[in-house]
Order: sequence, then structure tokens, then C-alpha cells
Amino acid sequence: MVSLTIFGGIKEIGGNKILLETKEARIFLDFGEAFSLLDEFFLPESFLSPRERFGLKDYVEFGLIPKLEGLYCSQAIERTDIPYKEPEFDAVFLSHSHADHWEHLRFLHPEIPIYMGECTKKILQSTWTTTRETKNYADKCFKTFRSGASIRIKDITVRPIHVDHSVPGAYGFIIDTPEGSIVYTGDLRAHGPRSDMTVEFLDKAASSDPLALIIEGTRVLPEEKRKDFSEEKVLEGSRKALGKARSSLVMRYPKDLDRFRTFYQVAGELGKKLVISRKTAHLLDALKGDEVGLPDPVKDERIEIYGRELRSYSKWEKPYLDKCISPEEIRKGFGKRICEIDFWTLNELIDLVPSNGVLVHSMSEPFEEDPVSLLGGRVLDNWVEHFGLEYHQLHASGHAPKSGIFDMIKQVGAKKVFPVHTLFPELFKESGAKIEIVKKGERREV
Ligand SMILES: [Zn+2]
Repeated sequence: MVSLTIFGGIKEIGGNKILLETKEARIFLDFGEAFSLLDEFFLPESFLSPRERFGLKDYVEFGLIPKLEGLYCSQAIERTDIPYKEPEFDAVFLSHSHADHWEHLRFLHPEIPIYMGECTKKILQSTWTTTRETKNYADKCFKTFRSGASIRIKDITVRPIHVDHSVPGAYGFIIDTPEGSIVYTGDLRAHGPRSDMTVEFLDKAASSDPLALIIEGTRVLPEEKRKDFSEEKVLEGSRKALGKARSSLVMRYPKDLDRFRTFYQVAGELGKKLVISRKTAHLLDALKGDEVGLPDPVKDERIEIYGRELRSYSKWEKPYLDKCISPEEIRKGFGKRICEIDFWTLNELIDLVPSNGVLVHSMSEPFEEDPVSLLGGRVLDNWVEHFGLEYHQLHASGHAPKSGIFDMIKQVGAKKVFPVHTLFPELFKESGAKIEIVKKGERREV
């Protein structure tokens, strides 16, 4: 008997929490928080959030977390009606380092091992160091793997295989059980710079002749309205847009290091320096020596670190301080630089004073379904207008489009398909495969 219970990722983007059970083993695939999880009762953007100091109490109140015994640490459940038990789960496997796949790890029982790629661990540790959050992972038991490993957990073997996504160190899993294999894609695309990795994963998944495929569907939509390009097109577009700019600004997702590489390349071609944040410098440092092959943020001649002025600096920032370049210096030689900027550091533009500026926005366009995202879009528009910036929308998604997902389903040829990480599971029926539509928390035998 093999069963799947999907506690998160059903009719929502992210928040994947997938329980796989066999006669002997019980493992979770991912343990994230959906981007929309808190939307109904909380609005973190306006500082109404679950009270971190009370563990899972506020989550339990609104049914935002599975009520399972032997899963959580004692501090997380002490103010809830979930009784404390010794661990009844064998492991959690993380597909990659996006928060919608790991954000709830902090609640787990410390004796439940959490497996992740080596690169994923480095990225998470850098994220935890450089964000001013009090959440604590010190007691957790992290174990790492590389692509191609075989990890035996009681009567199952978990095989992580790398895939291409918008963050390095992303994996899909093939889980061999006594009844047959189960394949989980995590998040993936086949149109990125490392599509070869996705190809390898899909080949191995298909040859395992799986019972079930659990597959993401972020872009399985009735109609896709937002623009999407390949990384190559983003490179071409950026080269063209920034070629003649007097002040060049670029925005990307902090962990999207393919995009970092694209801008790094453009800077090289145009004979400019790429100015990055201290957070990015820390992340590049954390990945130094890793096979993803990124430049050294301190030694590399093409990189400068932005000296955002603060009242006080965290310990991790201090080693970078005397290597930073001030906004005044950038302003004086803006023509020789491409400056990375985030939404939450747009206020630096007041000191940077871009003239004849170009902004390459290399992230998703605002989500029409999400008022907060729309508001953010409007605020950005106002900054663009105020500083007279020429705006370019150039982004390559980390997710395969609907047709790509359907091709993958066909190639893997699993007997049953479980859509996750999608708002439209019903649409998967168009793929022609046998689609299992399940409710959140409903246990389904495979
Ligand atoms: Zn992701």
C-alpha cells in the first residue's frame, strides 16, 4: 500500500506539503507556506501576521497547518491542542530553496531529518543570516544530498535528480516504493539555461515506470496574459535596453542567479560594472566553490557592492562595509555601471538621482488576482514616472508553461497524475492523462 495526502499546494501556488506513506515509511515532500496561505485572516504586508512567539497557535485557529501528532517540536505546539509525541515521521525532503517549499520547517520536530541539496542548504543559510528575522533553525537536523544520490528510508529509496528552475539547487524526486515509483517534480522548467538537467530528470522519471506523478502547474492557466521570454531573450533585450543608457537599473528576484549571470554578462559586454547589494554579495560568497560557478563578489573586477547607508549594521554586513561604493560615487560614474535594485530599496533612487535612466524589470508583472501585488505595481509605476525612467519588462519564468507541463506528463507516462502548486487542477484533464483531483488533507491510495 502506498498513499499520498496533500496538505498544501492544492488550489494554491506553493505551500507544498505532500505526505507519502508506505507500510513502513512516512515522509514529507516539501514543507512550505503558500503565497496565499495567510490572505484570508492575515495581511503580513500590513503587519497583521500570526504571532511567531506563540508557535502554531494562530495557524491552528484558522486551520492553516495540518494537525498531525509526532510532527512538530514542543515549542510550536505548546499553546495548541495538538498533543506532543515523539517523531512519527521519518524525513522531510526539500525540492529547492523557495519559501513556498520550506517556510514551515521551523515548526518541525528536531529529530525529523530534513534532506536538501548541498546548494539549497548554502542558500538557506545565507537567507537566514541576512534577513532580520528571529526564526530559529539551530535545533533542526539538516542532511544534504547531490543529484543522483539514493537515500534509503525504511522500505523506500528516494532519488533526487537536479532540475532547471529559477534558483540553483532545485530537484525533482523519484521515490521507489515496494509497489512502484512515485515521481515528484518540485518546480521546474524546460526552457531555461539548464534545460539539460530537466531532460535528465524526466528521462529517469519515465524509465522508472511510475505509479504516480505529482507535478507542478504554476502556469497551467485558462489564459496566460503575462509576457514571458527565454533567458536568452532577456539577455538580448537587456543588452539592447541598457546599451545606450546613462543610468542603468535592473530588478530581479534575489535568488534568481541565472538572472544575476545574465546581468553580469551584459555588464561585461558593455564594459560596465555590476553593482549588487550586500545581501547578494553574501549569497555569492556562500556559494563560492560550489559547482554552480558564480564569481567572487569581493575579488571580481566586474562587481561592486552597493553601500546602502544604515544607522547600524549587522555582523554579517561588516566585512563588506569598506568594500562598498557609495551612492554619490555611483551617481558620478553612473554611465559606467549597472545597478541592481529591489522594490524595498527603491528609496535609494533619491540619492542615486538617475538621469536618462533605464530600468529593466526582470520579475513577474503584478498579479491581477492579488490587490497587494497590484498596489506594489502602482507604487513602482509612480517611482518610474517620478524619475523619468525608461521601463522594460523582461522576464523568463522559472516554471514551464501549460504546454510544457503537458509534454512532461506525456513523457513520464505515470498511471496517475496529481496536480499541485496550481490554481487550476481541473485544467490538467486537457492533458489526456488520468488526473487525480484531491481535496487538501484527503488521503488517497496510489
Ligand atoms: Zn520555486
